[in-house]
Amino acid sequence: MVSQRVHVGFVVLVASSLAFASARPSAQPQNPATVLVGGTVIDGNGGPPIADAVVIVSGSRIQAVGPRSAVKIPTGATQIDARGRWILPGLIDTNVHLSLYGGQNDRYESLVRYQPRQNEIVLEAAQIDLSYGVTTVRDSYGALVPLAHVRDQIARGEKTGTRILAAGNILGWSGPYSFSFSRVMGQLTLFQEQMNDFIAQGGGEELMTMTPAELRVAIDKYIDKGPDFLKFGGTSHFSEPTFIGFSPEQQRVIVEEAHRRNRAAETHSTTIEGLRVSIAAGIDGIQHPELLDGREMPDDLITTIRDRGLVCSMLASTITGPAWTRHLKAKEEAEKKRIETEKEAARGLKHEKTTAEQRKEDADSGAGLEARRRNAQKLIRGGCTVTPGTDSYWAAAPELTRTPKPTEQDHGIGTIMAIEGLVELGMTSSQTIVAATKNGAIASRGLKDFGTIEPGKLADLVVLTADPLADIKNLRKVSAVFKEGRSVDRGRLPELRVLSVAPAAPGTK
Ligand SMILES: [Zn+2]
Repeated sequence: MVSQRVHVGFVVLVASSLAFASARPSAQPQNPATVLVGGTVIDGNGGPPIADAVVIVSGSRIQAVGPRSAVKIPTGATQIDARGRWILPGLIDTNVHLSLYGGQNDRYESLVRYQPRQNEIVLEAAQIDLSYGVTTVRDSYGALVPLAHVRDQIARGEKTGTRILAAGNILGWSGPYSFSFSRVMGQLTLFQEQMNDFIAQGGGEELMTMTPAELRVAIDKYIDKGPDFLKFGGTSHFSEPTFIGFSPEQQRVIVEEAHRRNRAAETHSTTIEGLRVSIAAGIDGIQHPELLDGREMPDDLITTIRDRGLVCSMLASTITGPAWTRHLKAKEEAEKKRIETEKEAARGLKHEKTTAEQRKEDADSGAGLEARRRNAQKLIRGGCTVTPGTDSYWAAAPELTRTPKPTEQDHGIGTIMAIEGLVELGMTSSQTIVAATKNGAIASRGLKDFGTIEPGKLADLVVLTADPLADIKNLRKVSAVFKEGRSVDRGRLPELRVLSVAPAAPGTK
């Protein structure tokens, strides 16, 4: 019997002639199974955990799971001691942005410098995600060409990274230098115009003007470019004022074409009535449903969202944790400033507060963020199908900026913070894990292949050294990650840093 320590931090009790790390996906079905023995399995379905469990992985898939007493370990299997470990399905983030899509000022400069390196940048983000145990992500806006390229490389096993599902453009909008995406107007540079087209990929602002028949053709053409799902601009981006974009008939066409080609359709609709139109069109999911221009989500809409099983992909890390703490501090300061300003103003002629003044006051005090948080809590209380999203994105390159963006929208750790945030918003740890695994797979239309630990599913697994049901923050205590049955060498990821700065080792923060 050979006893050896493998790099994932387990002790191999019975090693077969093949080293564990060489256990390959289904291409070599003759390989002996790998078995995790004695851990606690949280399978992603929300039931009680299985103590002293056995998980048998054969090739890329889970062959069996259950209590040790009920599962027969095949002879010749590689056994891994998982006592004192918790085993979860791989985590899923339903709203990320892996490609670099630019922006203003230092983000613009970063795009100019790094546009030729989009493939490396997408892979970098995908590898950071995977190192945190995030095995699937849904990219809801970005550069479809590099996203699809890297997605396919990972799917073929040529590269290591999280499983990518990408929407590409938000249909009806354009790139980062457009009115529809960022309210940018006026003279653009050649490069900016090229970047708009690079993001839009023929699914941009021109769609808004099309007849339903024309739109059907355009959507079909867009799907030919290989997005995994469609996201459309049901309303305009950035509020005040927020317009409904596509007509009800146009939205129906987008959803129908998506479904005809076996893809989910989801919307960015941030007004109550805009959201109603999109729901009536038959969408499958809503990105940031909590975001409703500062308005409260009406009860009847919550009921509809729940009853139709619409996936609510919440930007949970932006309304909880450090983001919420920062908000409370900023609100206190804004309140002090408001009192002082009013004192000053009292020396002059009194006037009724203008709409603009009220808006500014609301913006300064973070009223919109508070409304988002209340809506998120309400959707959760209402029993809607919730998933964690982060809007994680690349801001400016580190050497081009003075202020790094907040951690909660960083790749990898941002997703963990979003999951933690769901507990802060009122979910139990168990519900939160379902949200971050099974519900994510529902959003991905992938539940038959991943999202839970069940026989026949891909072996996407996260192994922790502490119980996440006792404290969701234990999700940070990762000891191993498996994707499709293969152990991930987390210490090597990302293999190449283009835009990220090396943090403390993952799982130790
Ligand atoms: Zn959106």
